[in-house]
Amino acid sequence: MPLPLADAYDYSVPEGLDLAPGDFVKVPLGPRQAIGVVWEKGSQGAESGVSEDRLRDVLMRMPVPPMPEENRRLVTWISAYTLAPPGAVLRMAMSVPAALEPEKLRIGYTLAASLPSIRITPERRRVLDFLEDIPPLTASDIAREAAVSPAVVKGLVKVNALIQVDLPPAERFREPDPNQPGPILSLAQGEAVNAIKNQICGFSVTLIDGVTGAGKTEVYFEGIAEILRQGRQALVLLPEIALGAQWLERFEARFGARPAEWHSDLTQSRRRATWRAVAEGQARVVVGARSALFLPYCDLGLIVVDEEHDSAFKQEDGVAYHARDMAVVRARIGEIPIVLASATPSLETVANVDAGRYERVALPARHGSASLPEIDLLDLRRDKPERQSWISPTLRRALAETLAAGAQSLLYLNRRGYAPLTLCRSCGHRLQCPNCTAWLVEHRFSARLQCHHCGFSGRRPEACDSCGTTDSLIACGPGVERLAEEVMNFLPEARLCIATSDSIRKPSDAADFVAQVLGHEVDIIIGTQIVAKGHHFPKLTLVGVVDADLGLAGGDLRAAERTYQLLHQVSGRAGRDEKQGHVLLQTYHPEHPVMQALSRGDRDGFLEAETEARMAGEWPPFGRLAALIISGRELELVTRIARDLARKAPKGSGIRALGPAPAPLAILRGRHRWRLLLKVSRGISVQELLRKWLLTVKVPNSVRVQIDIDPQSFL
Ligand code: ADP
Ligand code: ZN
Repeated sequence: MPLPLADAYDYSVPEGLDLAPGDFVKVPLGPRQAIGVVWEKGSQGAESGVSEDRLRDVLMRMPVPPMPEENRRLVTWISAYTLAPPGAVLRMAMSVPAALEPEKLRIGYTLAASLPSIRITPERRRVLDFLEDIPPLTASDIAREAAVSPAVVKGLVKVNALIQVDLPPAERFREPDPNQPGPILSLAQGEAVNAIKNQICGFSVTLIDGVTGAGKTEVYFEGIAEILRQGRQALVLLPEIALGAQWLERFEARFGARPAEWHSDLTQSRRRATWRAVAEGQARVVVGARSALFLPYCDLGLIVVDEEHDSAFKQEDGVAYHARDMAVVRARIGEIPIVLASATPSLETVANVDAGRYERVALPARHGSASLPEIDLLDLRRDKPERQSWISPTLRRALAETLAAGAQSLLYLNRRGYAPLTLCRSCGHRLQCPNCTAWLVEHRFSARLQCHHCGFSGRRPEACDSCGTTDSLIACGPGVERLAEEVMNFLPEARLCIATSDSIRKPSDAADFVAQVLGHEVDIIIGTQIVAKGHHFPKLTLVGVVDADLGLAGGDLRAAERTYQLLHQVSGRAGRDEKQGHVLLQTYHPEHPVMQALSRGDRDGFLEAETEARMAGEWPPFGRLAALIISGRELELVTRIARDLARKAPKGSGIRALGPAPAPLAILRGRHRWRLLLKVSRGISVQELLRKWLLTVKVPNSVRVQIDIDPQSFL
């Protein structure tokens, strides 16, 4: 059952019903009915031992293709790896309950064989003429197309001038055509394509390691074309599907049809149609966010993970899994190739290449005449911004020059809103979220204070809620809104656009944003990491990073790696066409290895240094980590359980338990949080240790212990 249960439930099979593993079945569950999947007999250890006569009958098999064996094995595998209950993982593979139910019939209308003698009005005439040589349509479609009111159509039905018929299912997925001509590939691209095509037989992992703008997308498109020629399906995982507008257009230009999309912004009926089309094989290429991995592909032949280093592939809530890593598992189960693409591959992937487990193909140069941007460091200690402003004189000059040259700029700051902190000038009180250990962020456009962790939002108070002084609250530090204010002051003629997850909420917003920039309705984009990736804006020549040090703060294991990746990505937006791109990084630490590597373009040197440091400390990927997050509403109880767990922590050579420590977000959504970290050498099974460890402490229902294997976030 798709419920967080440790085990499968047993049912009896009534006479005449023939069931096999994978079948979706409706069963009684307490007083309700629910849909589950037939699992292998006794697959979760022994059979339940419930005596035959107490077993309840399966009610029916659902009229859908069974869950493919690959998916069932994936569910079992992920459950064993993440220690999430199998039913919780299964739920991710059954996310569209409506897809399992028979489709509601859609009713259409067409002309009766012979027209009864009725009064003919001009409106009726229009409907009758319109339906003359077209297939049946729904009443509302007919009314819209013939430009009459629905009552007119109904009237015609009533007098038997139109007759009712069942319509075929609504959504059809057009087939992408692999044989439409693609672009003429460069020599390096052609070699990369050949390398990938050669891997299309059985399981393999190939990294396309290419600078931004090298044509990685064009290269894996050829891999997809090959799979389509073989009549199989392909899946492309993108970190931010909402930002895939340009990607979708390129796909359509190459293959003549859109792929099936899978993300949180689909309507329920689209979701249902897509799920079915994937199961029945009509959807040939799926592009989606991480959950697309769990769709019931009937014949998946290739997986692509674009921007494989992106942390958005890690799901933190519920079942904590990394979609890139699980995609590799899915490929191994299905014995199919998987392609990872990135300009800044993760250390995990690099280590796998070095160890010979993954293949690597390199695209070392940008396509065509475009060259990589020049990256300069601006030392904020010397190049000081004015008081209460954040853009240094050099960056201001560069923005003005770019504007004068008729080109576009991007100012990058990964901070939404106006100011990240509001404090009282009179007593020093800082405005904090009532539910979390986090400052409230002022959003001036919407005139609200928001918590970016729990979504709390409130009006900005007139007076300090601690000392009561009025007009004493001041904004500290910049967010993108405040930067926009600054730019407006020194470049009043520039047309600005703020791009954050507040302004770009759905794919259509992203498409509008892209159109605005491509249409040169914008001179300066001021954006967060939502604009750092993927976009191809030919006229964008300057990127200014307002606070390059931002990501380095905090003790996160991957702080340096992630900062490097993000700043490299955002730099890669500059100069993608003929004109040379220029990147200015504002920093207080120009000597920091990340800044040095960026300005010298020495990615591999940086990776080597990171690799050495991690190896020395046996940090991932050269050791393994698992996090325990213990949370609950009662601080004392949570603390006690955390301490109990720490006391019972596994010991031994190659095993270290760290903590308990209050999580950096010590209170989140009103829950107190403690963290423990288990660090083990590579050869040791972290799952086995955890399983035994958790059995040693009795955890009350009001306390939650979340397990995060290979944690990415340490908040
Ligand atoms: P990446 O994914 O490596 O950042 P893209 O695939 O987005 O690079 O390619 C960058 C730009 O160069 C795109 O506009 C793409 O259409 C163009 N491009 C890449 N390869 C070719 C090619 N062989 N012929 C024509 N245009 C190409
Ligand atoms: Zn909050």
